[in-house]
Amino acid sequence: MAKDDLECSFCGRKKPETNLLIAGLDAHICDRCIEQAHGIVLEESKEIDNSDLAKDLMLKKPKEIKEFLDEYVIGQEYTKKVLSVAVYNHYKRLLQPDTEDDIEIQKSNIVMVGQTGTGKTLMAKTIARMLNVPLAVVDATVLTEAGYVGEDVESILTRLLQAADYNLEKAERGIVFIDEIDKIARKSDNPSITRDVSGEGVQQALLKLLEGTVVNVPPKGGRKHPDQKFIEVNTEHILFIAGGAFDGIERIISKRLNMQAVGFSASKSEDVIEKDNLLKYIIPRDLKDFGLIPEIIGRLPVLTYMNPLDKDTLRAILTEPKNAIIKQYQKLFDMDDIEFSITADALDYIVEQAIEYKLGARGLRSLCEAILTDAMFDLPSSGEGELIVNKEYAKGKLEKSTLQKLKAVS
Ligand code: ADP
Repeated sequence: MAKDDLECSFCGRKKPETNLLIAGLDAHICDRCIEQAHGIVLEESKEIDNSDLAKDLMLKKPKEIKEFLDEYVIGQEYTKKVLSVAVYNHYKRLLQPDTEDDIEIQKSNIVMVGQTGTGKTLMAKTIARMLNVPLAVVDATVLTEAGYVGEDVESILTRLLQAADYNLEKAERGIVFIDEIDKIARKSDNPSITRDVSGEGVQQALLKLLEGTVVNVPPKGGRKHPDQKFIEVNTEHILFIAGGAFDGIERIISKRLNMQAVGFSASKSEDVIEKDNLLKYIIPRDLKDFGLIPEIIGRLPVLTYMNPLDKDTLRAILTEPKNAIIKQYQKLFDMDDIEFSITADALDYIVEQAIEYKLGARGLRSLCEAILTDAMFDLPSSGEGELIVNKEYAKGKLEKSTLQKLKAVS
């Protein structure tokens, strides 16, 4: 057969009509058919990916999601339960087939209210880890309205893209944790005095993102710039979790509860209010009274609270989570063939100090560092194979450390 008579076995084009004709054993294929076939392969593999994701996620029911959270986060039972359901529903929504009925499952974005250091970020991190999706942790305080000094709200998505290694599909199924959402509350009830560039304006800018929209995102961050190429990110399937301490919100809750209590049912025993944990009674209206605009609250429909950490919880945080601080030190020492152990009274001592220093769970790590730095410096070259830390040892090291100064200040 003459060369020009060769043809594509798929579409029948003659060789001169193609850019490239590749020969197989007893067939040929042209460049166009290759491209088309490649498209089909991509499409198919996407479907496989989707069903894999479906399988992965559907395998985990809310109870199992909670069990996973239990491995990393101590206590906070209520929030874990609420979060497990919200995440489960979020991914159900994501996987819902295009059905004929008009029931559209809405997003279950979450807002967590609780003091700093009670595990809000940890909760978001653990969920992202479980789902194996990218997570961006952003601080609401740096956000400002477009055109003002600070970061545009879109920068949140730049972070998410970075966390996803610029894989758009992954980013679009990721989680964004917005910390300190309370700091963008409206500063006063009278919005007209001055422009509130870092308050209500930012809340307005966030609205669209939370709800689901396509946003032009500068991939490298920074301000929008006419010459910069944008990546279009669809936020429809991104789960937003907001967190904040909402300092002073207890007063709002208590006021509301008191007003209710004045009514007829105040004397019933089930109405006895736990005064030391008023957050338990939080409702969306309290967030509005604090200064979040109703539209934002509407787009964060799952509201939950974090309990303050008591002594027992702090003690458990030291040793129980899968990657507990003490386990981490044990691993570090183990790499130098040093067996590290710590006595119960030393652990109690660390917890007491964390409470005294008012450092919460975050303080546990600094305290352990202060106590163990000398040993981590000396032991690897000393040839010793064991380190037992008891209360005296811990106290001795801590009293010499700079942390002691912190105590004097507080
Ligand atoms: P928040 O976001 O509420 O300010 P974080 O999640 O950043 O607090 O918590 C700070 C650190 O304290 C975490 O890295 C974690 O080690 C520890 N921690 C706080 N709460 C818990 C908890 N409930 N269980 C386990 N660790 C916790």
